[in-house]
Amino acid sequence: MQYLELLKSLCNAFGPPGFEDDVRTLIRQQVIRLVDRIEEDAIGNLTAWKEGKSERVVMLDAHTDEVGILISHVDEKGFLRFAPLGGWDVRLFPGARIKLLGKGGFVYGTIGFAPPHLTKLEEHSKAIPAENLAIDVGVSSKQEAFDLGIQPGTPGLLDGDFIELPNGRLLGKAFDDRAGCMVAIAVLQQLKGKKLPFTLAVNFATSEELGLRGAKVAAFRIEPTIALVLESTTAGDFPGVAEYQSPCKLGAGVAITVADRTMVTSPRMLRFLQETAQKHNVPYQLKQPLFGGTNAGEIHLSRSGVLTGVLAAPARYIHGPSTIIDQKDLESQIALTLAALEEIPGKLF
Ligand SMILES: [Zn+2]
Repeated sequence: MQYLELLKSLCNAFGPPGFEDDVRTLIRQQVIRLVDRIEEDAIGNLTAWKEGKSERVVMLDAHTDEVGILISHVDEKGFLRFAPLGGWDVRLFPGARIKLLGKGGFVYGTIGFAPPHLTKLEEHSKAIPAENLAIDVGVSSKQEAFDLGIQPGTPGLLDGDFIELPNGRLLGKAFDDRAGCMVAIAVLQQLKGKKLPFTLAVNFATSEELGLRGAKVAAFRIEPTIALVLESTTAGDFPGVAEYQSPCKLGAGVAITVADRTMVTSPRMLRFLQETAQKHNVPYQLKQPLFGGTNAGEIHLSRSGVLTGVLAAPARYIHGPSTIIDQKDLESQIALTLAALEEIPGKLF
């Protein structure tokens, strides 16, 4: 895939909710020559504007944040307690590699726990309670931690390298939603030099993982007529998960959301997306209801309402440091977004 290096740098960038400067810097470099202007608001949304032949606005949205952690306490021995930022499965915490934003650069460590040799056998089959976990960054005092810039409020994440797997699959952290950011940038690259019949506002949204916070503010400011949210979503094709309980699967094409916990897609938008995929021969699947939620939840309720759709890349082990996605799905996500932008003026205006 043409955009692999871009995706790699986006995924490896540091961006817990509210601390997405690295991601925004990367995006800014990528889009500056592709759009007419870039706008950043007070809470951290970055919006790239591409002026068209009319002032009617179509919005694309991808969020820049990833699930992270926040240091809550540093003890006298230099062990760190933390709070989750976003929807974590806390069973992933013990033994995870941690990357914290210190004052002189990143600080690395692990989420430590009492070793199995020192705990009772009957406890080994249970999840370790959060109060028995503490981050160890190698320091041995509160002062040493402080000298590295670590104090309550220091952000961090569970680290995971970006690695190419067989069959075009990719392993890494933060595909939710840097994959969507990559797709949005790819779409802007493909549209370079073209004057669209509408103005395109591509919003790179902050703090989705804390409850769709950035998109709420961005949609109000942008005032779109139509919006498409570019996301990553839970793939449930894994041993032990029944097919009827799995929202979508890897490699079967871009997932079109039917309904989730934050929005029921309007029949008009759903029909439009399906017909567009069929007309343009883009592989797609319907994401089974009623799992998850996206920025569409806020965008479709903005002002007097916005016709909104969600196009997502299926991702296994989402909200973990070792998520797997399929490049074919990303290609169909790019293709369907471009096809939808082409068909919107005739079909939805
Ligand atoms: Zn997401």
